[in-house]
Amino acid sequence: MRRDPRIFPTFDDGPHPLWTPKILSELRRADAKATFFAVAPLALRYPEITRRIMDDGHEIAFHCTRHIRHTEMTEEEVEEDVETGLRSLRKVGASPRMWRPPWGMLAPWSERVADDFGLEISLWDSDTRDWRGDSAEAMLGAVAPSLSAGDTVLMHDGLGPGATRDGCEETVRLVAPLAARMRDIGCEPDSLAVKEHRGARA
Ligand SMILES: [Zn+2]
Repeated sequence: MRRDPRIFPTFDDGPHPLWTPKILSELRRADAKATFFAVAPLALRYPEITRRIMDDGHEIAFHCTRHIRHTEMTEEEVEEDVETGLRSLRKVGASPRMWRPPWGMLAPWSERVADDFGLEISLWDSDTRDWRGDSAEAMLGAVAPSLSAGDTVLMHDGLGPGATRDGCEETVRLVAPLAARMRDIGCEPDSLAVKEHRGARA
């Protein structure tokens, strides 16, 4: 295994039948790995795309079943959301270890629920705000200057409830130059599975 520092590209709100395959193609071309925080019902609806994500060496993580802030749900409702979601993801062959709750919003009990399900909550260090519809060039210009080793970068391969764009084309266009920028600063784009593994061994 290479020991270069890592940066972790992540994609939320998919899988999407059009945009996820395009992002996978760009990742493959860039020889980059990433983590996909899946919306469980979408993973069930598009099992072949979910499998392709894993076959390409990327990580499937858990985003949600219902895309609702924990602060707007009870602890029991979130437990049910996780239980249902993990069951759905297992049906398509995924066993997530990482969890990014909707909007990155945590309730006081979110960490406890994560522990109960053996999940590790993962938020982000660098936000492309790609849901706004900015150009790839603008997003790269915004995140590149502060990008550093160990960062987790937030992007979207689907159109979640907060999206104000009608497609993910600019995220597709961002993948290659962002991966190149990571390598410019001596980092490999990789999945969070590697980070956790390395952390466990350290
Ligand atoms: Zn989301």
